[in-house]
Amino acid sequence: MAAASHIVATLSVVIPMYDEEEVLPALVSRLRLVLEHLGAAYEVIAVDDGSADRTAELLEGFRREWPELRVLRLRRNSGHQVALTAGLHHAVGAYVVSIDADLQDPPEKIPEMLELARSRHLDVVYGIRADRSTDSGFKRRSAGVYYWLMRRLVGNRVPPQAGDFRLLSRAAVQASKALPDHQHVYRLLVPWLGFPSGEVTYQRHQRAAGRTKYPLGKMVGLAADSITGFSAAPLRLANWLGVFSLIACFGMMIFTLVAWTAGTTVPGWTSMFTGMLFIGAVQLICIGLLGEYVGRIYTVLQQRPTYHVGYDTAAGVAASVPEEFTGPVVRRA
Ligand code: UDP
Ligand code: MG
Repeated sequence: MAAASHIVATLSVVIPMYDEEEVLPALVSRLRLVLEHLGAAYEVIAVDDGSADRTAELLEGFRREWPELRVLRLRRNSGHQVALTAGLHHAVGAYVVSIDADLQDPPEKIPEMLELARSRHLDVVYGIRADRSTDSGFKRRSAGVYYWLMRRLVGNRVPPQAGDFRLLSRAAVQASKALPDHQHVYRLLVPWLGFPSGEVTYQRHQRAAGRTKYPLGKMVGLAADSITGFSAAPLRLANWLGVFSLIACFGMMIFTLVAWTAGTTVPGWTSMFTGMLFIGAVQLICIGLLGEYVGRIYTVLQQRPTYHVGYDTAAGVAASVPEEFTGPVVRRA
C-alpha cells in the first residue's frame, strides 16, 4: 500500500464497481478525457468489488494503456460503502473524489469540484442532484423519505439529495479513516464531520448501461446502517412504545373494572388477547432494537476488517495481477 505521507497525486478518483462490464468502456473514455485536461497529477482507483462478470478483465486491458488507472480488487463482493472505504484507504491524492461507475454522476463536474475546493479552501464538496426526474418514482420517493429521516436523526447538516459523488480533502479522508468503526455510511459521516463544505449541483442522468446493483434488500440495509450508525433515537422509540402500551393497559383495566361494577362482565377473551399480543409485540420490537445496537457494538469490538484486498496494481510487490485472478473469470449462473 502506498503511504499517504508522500502524496504524489493531486487528485484521486475512487470508483466502486460491481459487475459493470457494460458501462466500463464509456466510463473510461469520458473520465479520461476530463482528467487529461485537468492540468494536475491524478490517479484513478477502480475498486472492483468482487465482480463476477468481465469487469476485472476489462480493467486489466484499460490499465495497460492508461497508466493512471489503478485497480484495487476486493476478494469478494462487500457492498458499495465498503468498496468506497477500501478506495479511500488506498487513495494517495491531496483530494479524493468518489463517483459511481454507471455515469449517473457526470465526471465533467470533477474539475469544478476541485476548483471550488482549492479556491475556497474547502474540505468537502458535495455533488447535489438538482434533478432526479430520470430515477424511477419508487427510487425518488424512497430517497425522499430517507433524506427526511436522516436530517431528523443526524441533523440539518445532511444536505438533501447528496449521494456519493463528492470531493474530500486529505484532512477529511484522514478524519474518516481515524474512526474506530469501518461500517461507514459516507453520506452521513461526512456531514457529521462538519468540515468546511461547498456544493456543486448536477443533473442526475440515467444509468449509461447495465442494471442497478442496489436491489431493495441493499437499500433497506443501507437505511438500517444509517439509522443505527448515527442515532440512538430508535432506542428512545422503544421507551415511547413502552409508555404507550402502559397507558393502553391502564385504559383496559379501567374499562374492565367499570364493566365488572356494571355487572356486564363479558367473557373478555378478545380484550385479553389483544392486550397480550400488543404488549408481546412491543417487547419484541424493543428487544429487536436493542439487538441492532448490541450487534453493532459486537462487530466494532471484534475489529474484523470489512474488506480483503485481492490485489492492488499500485502495490510494489504485486504490480501485476496475480495468477489466481488472470484465469477466465467464473460467471455466475
Ligand atoms: N456497487 C458496488 N458494490 C455493490 C453494489 C454497487 O461497488 O455491492 C457500485 C456500483 O457498481 C455503482 C455504485 O456502487 O458504481 C452505485 O450502484 P448503483 O448505480 O447500482 O446504485 P443506484 O444508482 O441504482 O442506486
Ligand atoms: Mg447508479
